Amino acid sequence: MAHINVIGCGVSGLSTAIRLQEAGHQVTIISRDHFQDTVSAVAAAIWFPFSAEPQDRVNAWSKETFDVFRQLAKEPEKTGVFMTDFLVFIEDPSYVYWESALPEGIKSPAAPGEIPEQYHSGYYVRVPLSDSSKYMPYLMDRFQSAGGQVEYRTVTDLEAEARRADWLVNCTGMGARELCDDQELYPIRGQVLRLKKTDTPVKCFIDEYMPHRIAYALPRTDDIILGGTAIAHDASTEEDTQATRTIRTLCTQHQPQLKDLEVLEVKVGHRPGRSSVRLEREPGTNIIHNYGHGGSGYTISWGCADEVVKVIDPPDRSEMDVDPLDRPEIGR
Ligand SMILES: Cc1cc2nc3c(=O)[nH]c(=O)nc-3n(C[C@H](O)[C@H](O)[C@H](O)COP(=O)(O)OP(=O)(O)OC[C@H]3O[C@@H](n4cnc5c(N)ncnc54)[C@H](O)[C@@H]3O)c2cc1C
Repeated sequence: MAHINVIGCGVSGLSTAIRLQEAGHQVTIISRDHFQDTVSAVAAAIWFPFSAEPQDRVNAWSKETFDVFRQLAKEPEKTGVFMTDFLVFIEDPSYVYWESALPEGIKSPAAPGEIPEQYHSGYYVRVPLSDSSKYMPYLMDRFQSAGGQVEYRTVTDLEAEARRADWLVNCTGMGARELCDDQELYPIRGQVLRLKKTDTPVKCFIDEYMPHRIAYALPRTDDIILGGTAIAHDASTEEDTQATRTIRTLCTQHQPQLKDLEVLEVKVGHRPGRSSVRLEREPGTNIIHNYGHGGSGYTISWGCADEVVKVIDPPDRSEMDVDPLDRPEIGR
């Protein structure tokens, strides 16, 4: 059993901490923010690869995560995860970057007339949706029930922090920009509207043809999330009222019944964009990075968490180049 500190309690930190705690380690999460105040709490969140690289690793993590979510969706009231039929509108098939990540057997045709003429095509995919307002508390509860500890504080010195445990896992999302001086990390601003759910049926859909357009509606248990925006290098946190109007207009073009639903809240968050997800052990140290998941933090969460576990508990221990437990300078 190792003493492991995980920085961050967004979806990456919580998933990783759960895997490590349930693998028999003693894990403490250290976080600046409560999980309700993270970027993860802004996402709806649908399983769908978006704005994360490299594609081959993202596809593998996505598929692994899909299987875990499919299991969690068997208890939707407990986990907040459920399977949903997601209607995808395709304007330009050369833009469809997610196709290779889709597990087999989840696609089905749209009904005649469901795809307007101006689109090239469209289809349904049956995918998991994690209602973050329920899924995040579920994750935290699962972690603490397994014996995990939580400390709320800001980490300012990664190397000093690493001396306090056998392993330190860095799941700080955009926070890594300052903590690791990682200038490759940049914000991709997202804005969503949270609407009041009524008895009117609303389809779960996405019409995404970046950079021209992104519109989606994600009906959850008690509300409906409408999106969205994805503006790289925009760190502003205030509502953009023009974007609010555009989101409503674009979504209403697909589903007129969304026009009059009451807006409960407008939320803004910054996806941690990076040329590639940073999931690696920092050479010669006991620090493992797991951040930079872009717009796919949920979609790849369990795949990434499992990869962190493999670094700490390799299937063949001889693969380890340095065993941090042998390093005298690491305190317990
Ligand atoms: C509008 C929007 C919609 C999205 N929709 C989806 C979707 O449908 N599907 C999907 O898969 N993804 C979606 N995403 C992307 C997803 O939300 C992110 O990829 C994911 O939340 C990143 O999670 P994280 O745990 O890495 O970071 P975060 O959730 O940002 O958590 C970072 C954690 O690190 C802590 N921290 C940071 N710095 C420090 C420090 N110095 N010391 C201590 N603690 C620190 C923070 O307090 C926090 O606990 C969406 C994002 C947005 C903004």
